[in-house]
Amino acid sequence: MNLILLGGPGAGKGTQAKMMIEKYQIPQISTGDILRAAVKEGTELGKQAKACMDAGKLVPDEVVIGIIEDRLKQADCQKGFILDGFPRTVPQAEALDKTLQKMGSKIDHVLSIDVDEEELVKRLTGRRTCKQCGQMYHIIFSPPKKEGVCDKCGGELYQRDDDNEATVRSRLATYNQQTKPLIDYYSKQELVRQIKGVGSISDIFQKIVDTLR
Ligand SMILES: [Zn+2]
Repeated sequence: MNLILLGGPGAGKGTQAKMMIEKYQIPQISTGDILRAAVKEGTELGKQAKACMDAGKLVPDEVVIGIIEDRLKQADCQKGFILDGFPRTVPQAEALDKTLQKMGSKIDHVLSIDVDEEELVKRLTGRRTCKQCGQMYHIIFSPPKKEGVCDKCGGELYQRDDDNEATVRSRLATYNQQTKPLIDYYSKQELVRQIKGVGSISDIFQKIVDTLR
């Protein structure tokens, strides 16, 4: 089962991916991780990627695709994979389709975990971090015993710049802009499965399992 996983910041994509890895015994392939691994292993493509990163440039699509292709050929991808963070653009999606075709494979489902924007803003802006020990809290979902104070070390809790409303809204807007063309692209292939990302973690996971059945 070859999957692409989409979901905006705060949609709970990471948590669901972990549960899917366990249930389906397929690896999650995140572009950042495999780029770093290829650089570390010093593969030909890894060297090319490193040269770009060292020069402060974006790694070109053909290098990323090549590294993904190498990764998908490994034994643990035989039963399938979960692509996370790739593709991000329509040209990347087209290149991925071509690569998979060459390998005699294809994408089976594009799972999109959808959460209402206001809900995401509520989730993301409620995060608080301990100044001393870095422990994370959420004013609604996992509040500290005493407001503004860390349960673990008594340190002061603060809101990171990343979590303020203006930043959160701008991250969501960027995500939506990037993702919309991909949803359109995969909709034409009838591959998009929209999962409502509300309710408990296990409820959402059950919806995914039912969809993939
Ligand atoms: Zn603390």
